[in-house]
Amino acid sequence: MFKLIDGKMVSAAVKDRVKEEVARLKEKGIEGALAVIIVGNDPASKVYVGNKKKACEYVGIRSVEYALDENTTQQELLALVEKLNQDNSINGILCQLPLPKHLDDKEVIEKISAQKDVDCFHAENVGKMWIGEYSFKPCTPAGVMELLKAYDIDVEGKNCVILGRSNIVGKPMAALLLEKNATVTVCHSRTKNLKEICLNADIIVAAVGRAKFVTADMVKDGAVVIDVGINRNEEGKLCGDVDFEAVKENASYITPVPGGCGPMTIAMLMQNTLTSIKNMNKEV
Ligand code: NAP
Repeated sequence: MFKLIDGKMVSAAVKDRVKEEVARLKEKGIEGALAVIIVGNDPASKVYVGNKKKACEYVGIRSVEYALDENTTQQELLALVEKLNQDNSINGILCQLPLPKHLDDKEVIEKISAQKDVDCFHAENVGKMWIGEYSFKPCTPAGVMELLKAYDIDVEGKNCVILGRSNIVGKPMAALLLEKNATVTVCHSRTKNLKEICLNADIIVAAVGRAKFVTADMVKDGAVVIDVGINRNEEGKLCGDVDFEAVKENASYITPVPGGCGPMTIAMLMQNTLTSIKNMNKEV
């Protein structure tokens, strides 16, 4: 019998922890703010930005939105980032991705001060993460780790298979699992014998971006299945990368989509913003 991993519940607990800390800092006269930059009119990006603003409101962190026109130039965007870097009242800066095609997201990410890089995308923070010296933890993988912890799922010595090797999910997921002594295999579009590799997994983290990619014949009995994917199925409904109905019969624990990893990412963003507020105010 599988157990459902409830990301809404765990994310609420994380946000409540952050909220308490934010209130404690406010009593000392310390206020925090997160700047969120969105360029253009991508509907999904607008939803994500709206959810981030709501989370900020809930935990008591001021959010400042910069909604820029689709035709914004690279120079204008970089100038805004620089202005926010210099603004001591701003603790976190994030630029909602993807950017319109004419803009260079790498250059924008590198322009964000590493101290305010609450997404943990900046090369300095990524490098630090790989040597175990965290300023921030990358939000989505950190959310997965928090879910595993909340359900007492120990990863030490376990075979963990990650499907996907992106810079924002797959690769940092590997770093965080390795740090906790898991044995990690990272798979991608050129991986051979994917099914066999998955069948050997105690824990599968799926971050491919394809509905029903992980099928029941890829999952051994008792495996933990974490679904990071966010896709739309044929009926236009939100779904993950895992064929949930079939795979749940093999799994010991499984995350739903929605209500699994998604809410965790935003909760961890709040956690990182709190970390930045503390760092900038030399608070512990
Ligand atoms: P991405 O950059 O498109 O990366 C997808 C990865 O999947 C790539 O490494 C790709 O391999 C691999 N892949 C594609 N087809 C494959 C195949 N047939 N077999 C094996 N591997 C294959 O995507 P992403 O940004 O990591 O996001 C992945 C999913 O997670 C998306 O659905 C996204 O919406 C979702 N997501 C969710 C959250 C959240 O908060 N829950 C956050 C971020 C992303 P190659 O490298 O070889 O191309």
